[in-house]
Amino acid sequence: MIGLDPGLLLAVDHEGRPWRLVDGDRTFRWGLNGRVLAIERAPRRGRTYHWVESDEAVALWERTRDRLSLLLESAISGDLPGLEPVPGPGGAQPPLPGLFTTLERVAARDGAALLADAERFSQIWSPVGILPPDQYMALVVQLTHGCQFNTCTFCTFYRDTPFSVTTGEDLRDHLTAVDSFLGEGVDLRRSIFLGDANALALPMDRLVPLIDIVMAHYRGKQPARGGMHAFLDGFSGAKKNVEEYRHLVEKGLRRTCIGMESGHDPLLRWLNKPGSTSDVVQTAEAMKVAGMGVSLVILLGAGGREYDEAHVRDTIRVLRELPLDSEDMVYFSRHMDLPDAAYGVIARQEGISALDEAGMEEQHQAIASALRPYRDGGPRRGSYDIREFIY
Ligand code: SF4
Repeated sequence: MIGLDPGLLLAVDHEGRPWRLVDGDRTFRWGLNGRVLAIERAPRRGRTYHWVESDEAVALWERTRDRLSLLLESAISGDLPGLEPVPGPGGAQPPLPGLFTTLERVAARDGAALLADAERFSQIWSPVGILPPDQYMALVVQLTHGCQFNTCTFCTFYRDTPFSVTTGEDLRDHLTAVDSFLGEGVDLRRSIFLGDANALALPMDRLVPLIDIVMAHYRGKQPARGGMHAFLDGFSGAKKNVEEYRHLVEKGLRRTCIGMESGHDPLLRWLNKPGSTSDVVQTAEAMKVAGMGVSLVILLGAGGREYDEAHVRDTIRVLRELPLDSEDMVYFSRHMDLPDAAYGVIARQEGISALDEAGMEEQHQAIASALRPYRDGGPRRGSYDIREFIY
């Protein structure tokens, strides 16, 4: 994080690639894909979000870079308090040589370079639809692309990505391209996320060789220290047993995020979510016995007022059945009526009325308070706001 002015803070990776700019009440978050999300905090309105147009993002970056170039000149000439050159064997030396290299890289990265970076990103990764909030800074390695279901009425994350599984050869090429793209910026990546929506649904004889390639590539390097993480979202076909999950834990899989949504099976069917709550229970139990952490996502407001009571009641019942502990997470995600999702159309046809913000907060409080407190060894709770996601 570099302080450019009072209230103006820039965070970059070691290649000088921006990922966050804090300007008073506004925060700009840069994705590796070149998109920029503006988050504004306003009294009474809370947080608002909007995507910054590409030309606006370039202009914002150029202004930031100009400010940084001035700072860099002062730092090099020793005019910056706290960053004066220090005496060394060959004469005066910069006090933090790594910092100067990073600042020079930022100064050299113009708007055209940012656009070229975004283009390169799209050749290496298919769109990264979503990640669990604790994995926003992960290195995404795509074992699969898209979601093999694409049926859930509330979800559009992978609508435009046909499902496919990578081959070992393509995965090695992917990793080489990821290395060359991120360079020293890989240091910022705290873990490895096995993309996309449901990589863990692959049978073991396909999954393990791919994981072995990933771990052989990153063994001893920064992102591997945070372990591997993945989604398991929607259930069909053969499920893995405890021994298989134990094997994956030994390979480095640390936590799996399960899109549970609700403990009420009729609601899951209404949402067209593949699988049932018993699949979630069986899978989460097997993972826990195998020594893996789980995070479960609950969809607040799902099914509106008509499902409100049953959603809360059965979600509490199912969560209480699970052996969740302080290694686990329960995420609460407020339902968003996305314009291109089927949910809104179906809800209107069937007379399902949306739960308002207060109703969703009531659901949140009821479910969260029914969990064993974290201080007594229960799971952590977190909010999962899909508007904040950028990669
Ligand atoms: S299984 Fe998950 S990723 Fe796939 S459509 Fe459903 S919610 Fe979306």
